[in-house]
Amino acid sequence: MALFKDVKKPVIKAASAGGAQISPFRPRYIEKTAPCAGHCPNGTEIRELMVGIAQAEAFGRTSEQALELAWKRLTERNPFPAVCGRVCPHPCEESCNRSAKEGPVAINAVERFIGDFGLAKNLKLSKLNGATQTEKVAVVGAGPAGLSCAYQLARRGYPVTVFEGFPQPGGMLRYGIPKYRLPREVLDAEIQRILDLGVELKCDCMAGRDISLGELRQEYRAVFVGIGAQKGIKLRVPGEDAPNVFSGTDFLNVANRGETVEIGNKVIVIGGGDTAIDAARVSKRLGAEVTLLYRRTRAEMPAVASEIEGALEEGVKIEFLAAPVEIIQENGRAVRMRSIRMQLGEPDKSGRPRPVPIPGSEFETEATAIIAAISQEPDFLGFDSLHSGKDWIKTDDFGATTTEGVYAGGDDTELGLVTIAISQGRFAAEAIDARLRGIPLVKPSSPPLVSQDKIKLDWYKTALRHERAHVPVAERTPDTEIEQGLTEAEVIEEAKRCMSCGMCMDCETCWMYCSLNCFVKLPKGEHYRVKLELCNGCKKCAEACPCGYIEMI
Ligand SMILES: Cc1cc2nc3c(=O)[nH]c(=O)nc-3n(C[C@H](O)[C@H](O)[C@H](O)COP(=O)(O)OP(=O)(O)OC[C@H]3O[C@@H](n4cnc5c(N)ncnc54)[C@H](O)[C@@H]3O)c2cc1C
Repeated sequence: MALFKDVKKPVIKAASAGGAQISPFRPRYIEKTAPCAGHCPNGTEIRELMVGIAQAEAFGRTSEQALELAWKRLTERNPFPAVCGRVCPHPCEESCNRSAKEGPVAINAVERFIGDFGLAKNLKLSKLNGATQTEKVAVVGAGPAGLSCAYQLARRGYPVTVFEGFPQPGGMLRYGIPKYRLPREVLDAEIQRILDLGVELKCDCMAGRDISLGELRQEYRAVFVGIGAQKGIKLRVPGEDAPNVFSGTDFLNVANRGETVEIGNKVIVIGGGDTAIDAARVSKRLGAEVTLLYRRTRAEMPAVASEIEGALEEGVKIEFLAAPVEIIQENGRAVRMRSIRMQLGEPDKSGRPRPVPIPGSEFETEATAIIAAISQEPDFLGFDSLHSGKDWIKTDDFGATTTEGVYAGGDDTELGLVTIAISQGRFAAEAIDARLRGIPLVKPSSPPLVSQDKIKLDWYKTALRHERAHVPVAERTPDTEIEQGLTEAEVIEEAKRCMSCGMCMDCETCWMYCSLNCFVKLPKGEHYRVKLELCNGCKKCAEACPCGYIEMI
């Protein structure tokens, strides 16, 4: 599949040859931020990865070389491409300009392929330069935020020790997200690569209890706190103290460790986010009939749409517009839940319609276990000095807390996503490095976003999006990975669907449309030089540029 429609340079008579000016404007190449990168919390250079893969041959590279280069570029900011290629809800795709044609580029599937390629080829993360620093840094929490911070510090040559309360690293990637979404060999391999850079990992060590924040500050020149939000929030209804009422995070934690959790055959899950859907699908895999209760409608559910779809196709029943009011116990165990029907009212602080109870609409549902997965919060034991009252940890843009030398990021500052935790771990590492090296910290800035009207959709060949296959419901075992990857050929075709919004892709359109031969081709990758002295300001190049790279100034 060719990247663009075939175009031949038209023979256009130079109407204004000889110097007649059409306008005082002159073309200028101005790089813009593509919406995919602009909406990726980690600012992944998606366009560059795609164009590199799509145009491998033109750059004189094999597909393998192009993929290796893409992996190296991707892992500069994200040591978890194979993880994120599976669990990231990919806000990049929502903003992809190709959506207005035949659907967004399958960016997340391409990321997964690049990540899996790196694992299959045993590619190693590398240090930024040969520098070796002596200042020791402590990282608390081996979730994506802590491990990202540790990685960025280790590649800058710092000795890093990660303190983790659980027996194994990974945070919610291991103890929250189930194996059918994220195989543990993928997670283990991507973590091992970070440890291979020389990062020391101390598991089963609960900072704040086994070693205090004060001791860490004394022994280490900087401390990054990435303790996440591990504590499930209570329903605050009578009867929830029964032993068969679990929080979503506790239930998933036990199930993900492979330990037995007695839930019986009728489980009620309460909530509408990822934790609730994961808890419901894991309960289903343990053999229970599962009802999920959500107080708004499907349109407001915060969980990823494909996960909701997956739960429904596996037989999870969802009761929308309903909320619990009481858990009824018999002999000290929960046996039923009383709920009330809701209707949607005026928007609340989150902008979503407020669920309002309908008086007299209570109903009861039998249960052998109830899982409250409405939200979670950090356990600040030992870190109380970093937050006040109901607030979580507050930081500046670079992750610095108000305590000298202490940084934070990830879910302990606000519930977020894996990609947000990774980016915040990276920002903090960059800030720690700048402080320890005495160099100024510059807030990263990006060029403005390219606006959609600058993209000439019709110029691009029609090319349908490749969707990932799913293992049929009947063939799913508890640990079978459901979502499959794309093939290399499909990945290359997806990369070719990238429209390179806001950046030259050497399509030659400007060169072809210029009747005065202002555009001088440069070696591949360097694009063009414009001989402004020949230009008469006709604007055809800017009007024809399909990706919005040329401005008339
Ligand atoms: C069930 C579930 C499913 C999710 N699904 C997705 C998804 O599909 N996609 C997505 O992008 N996001 C998802 N998320 C959100 C995502 O997992 C989090 O945003 C992310 O893991 C936050 O990373 P973190 O490093 O800040 O915290 P965590 O991942 O929570 O890691 C914190 C780590 O710190 C450790 N720790 C805590 N206290 C201490 C202490 N005192 N001393 C030492 N160690 C400590 C914990 O044991 C843990 O390992 C999901 C969350 C849950 C709960």
